[in-house]
Amino acid sequence: MSWSPEDALSPHFRVRELDPENAAEGEERERLRELAQVLEAIRAELGGRPVAVTRSGGYQPPDDKQSRRWPSRKPTSQHRRARAADIVVRGVSALDVANTVGRMVREGRLEQVGGVGCYVGDGFVHVDTRPRTKGGRLALWAQGCKVHRREVRWEVAS
Ligand SMILES: [Zn+2]
Repeated sequence: MSWSPEDALSPHFRVRELDPENAAEGEERERLRELAQVLEAIRAELGGRPVAVTRSGGYQPPDDKQSRRWPSRKPTSQHRRARAADIVVRGVSALDVANTVGRMVREGRLEQVGGVGCYVGDGFVHVDTRPRTKGGRLALWAQGCKVHRREVRWEVAS
């Protein structure tokens, strides 16, 4: 059974934002709810500023599940697993969003988050809920900036 695009995943996030193809089922829906909780926490930390998921930045179902294709995504993408969101916050730079997420991670407030990528050029931040490594490490990366992995911090590349 499909869910309605207008269904709420959390107080501020709807199905259509994180599952635009309306293709998530079962466990994937649970993952999207968990992801929405992460986005709620980030939204609150940013003073309640709306967090927008980019057009192709939500769940991207495997090709055999839907008609539309997402050729740019690898099969291993966390977006394919209903674990990732690419987000934009109006009035806040990608660098500041990433560093807010990084600070929350350091403070132990985003235990579900396992990956963060900061895309300064494209102006968005990727956040995902992949399991962390046994050592508690996150997958961290940067485009157009530099990441300090140990500190979970990004800065403009010099
Ligand atoms: Zn992404």
